[in-house]
Amino acid sequence: MTEANLTSSIEGKNVLVTGATSGIGLGIAKALAEVGCNVMINGLGDLSEISTIREGLEASTGQKVVYSPADLTKTSEIEAMFEDFQSTLGQVDAVVNNAGCQHVSPIETFPTENWDQIIALNLTAAFHTSRLSFSGMKERGWGRIINIASAHGLTASPFKSAYVASKHGLLGLTKTAALEGAEFGITVNAICPGYVKTPLVENQIADTARARNMPEGDVISKVILERQPTKSFTEIEHIAAMTVFLLSHAASNITGSELKMDGGWTAM
Ligand code: NAD
Repeated sequence: MTEANLTSSIEGKNVLVTGATSGIGLGIAKALAEVGCNVMINGLGDLSEISTIREGLEASTGQKVVYSPADLTKTSEIEAMFEDFQSTLGQVDAVVNNAGCQHVSPIETFPTENWDQIIALNLTAAFHTSRLSFSGMKERGWGRIINIASAHGLTASPFKSAYVASKHGLLGLTKTAALEGAEFGITVNAICPGYVKTPLVENQIADTARARNMPEGDVISKVILERQPTKSFTEIEHIAAMTVFLLSHAASNITGSELKMDGGWTAM
């Protein structure tokens, strides 16, 4: 099957990508616009930089690209984002729940406000976007929801209680929504990346190098990629390509799945 055949079924679809002002989400938004989707990018950040990204993407792909600054830890802002989506792009055909954050701390001193924020952003926001998009998808008999979980949705690491709990919860939501959507042409899947070199991980590398007084190269090979047998990062483009595939007709019968892209981490 050629790439054009693979993606012809998703041309013109309207897709919401959360957390798309940086890292993995931005890579996914770019890949979707490149194959002919109209995209709403959501996320935080400098408004003029986001505007440059949005305009560049529209110019290079010829697709409609709109922006929502909604803070996804707030239910009312998620609901307003959906109203905004409908008035700018129309029906919501697909949602990529990608926005996420992390905090690393022993459980006994884990700040409760960080716990609440991580659960709200990494898990509850995906419930709300699924809730708000499901009835339209059911009516039209087609929909796609892709949840960017993590290897930490399948396995744990110490000091990441909220993140690990949120990503395990996201896999539970994925499977439940997949069952509810199965007879209506809606597929719901999760992608579980291992380490990906994004601003989130680059900060972690720098922090660990300082904390352990190690060169950054050693942090990457001895700490970060220690659990990833391929000893290489998953690339943003790999995850974007998997997302495009999951939207395509070829993936119509993949639902409730956890697609592991972790260099063998969770095979151990
Ligand atoms: P990133 O920090 O580069 O991007 C996070 C995005 O979320 C940004 O666009 C940011 O603006 C947005 N965001 C943060 N708080 C928000 C809020 N309250 N409301 C709306 N948007 C908000 O991170 P990334 O590495 O690209 O991670 C993206 C997703 O992939 C996350 O869910 C993360 O858990 C997951 N993931 C990342 C890795 C990795 O190694 N980088 C590995 C596995 C899973």
